Amino acid sequence: MKATTAQSWIREMHRLVEENKDYLTNLDAAIGDADHGVNLSRGFAAVTAALNKRPFETPGDVLVTSGSTLISTVGGASGPLYGSALRRAGKALGDDPEVSNERLAEALHAGLAAIQKLGAASIGDKTMVDAFAPAAAAFEAAVTEGADLHAAAKRAATAADEGAIGTIPIQALKGRASYLGPRSIGHQDPGATSTALLFWALATAVEGT
Ligand code: ADP
Ligand code: MG
Repeated sequence: MKATTAQSWIREMHRLVEENKDYLTNLDAAIGDADHGVNLSRGFAAVTAALNKRPFETPGDVLVTSGSTLISTVGGASGPLYGSALRRAGKALGDDPEVSNERLAEALHAGLAAIQKLGAASIGDKTMVDAFAPAAAAFEAAVTEGADLHAAAKRAATAADEGAIGTIPIQALKGRASYLGPRSIGHQDPGATSTALLFWALATAVEGT
């Protein structure tokens, strides 16, 4: 992956967030405070603006800049969580102008670790971790099996989708939705849903690279 591909990834995420803004907000209306789509829309608009401001030589710089911008522009829980994930993933990519699929797999795990360090959620707590963890694992497994970047990203996105759907029958134990107790059961977690978008954005961005 090069800097240009990383930029395409984040721009595609912004496009998907805009396309799914109302859907994400409606999911959050059911078990939160109806702002998830709005939060991510504001955040990724600022990220796109930051990426337009200057040239980027490394994919690591693209992700670190994107993460820092999310942290400073999104008030909700998801901003610092996604922001820390992208920042940590970017730092894990280092200063290389092009990174291998193996390195990207490590960076995704580093991003997941950042989310869990900040939010203290485990798999099964009905959060973005329920999509991010299986996606990072599926990406790594695919790369280990020799899959190309597009195939690995598609497998990760599919795993994230399954993880997001898997949040429906469970009770939220972290975040705002946990205040509802058992009443959070039966609703898909908004953050797990947007995490699936992040991995579909990666799959689209790397198509043909
Ligand atoms: P807020 O909850 O502050 O309104 P958002 O609505 O933007 O923020 O984001 C809500 C999403 O953030 C949830 O659906 C969940 O996936 C995620 N989230 C909330 N708390 C945590 C946490 N402690 N760990 C991981 N993810 C979390
Ligand atoms: Mg919310």
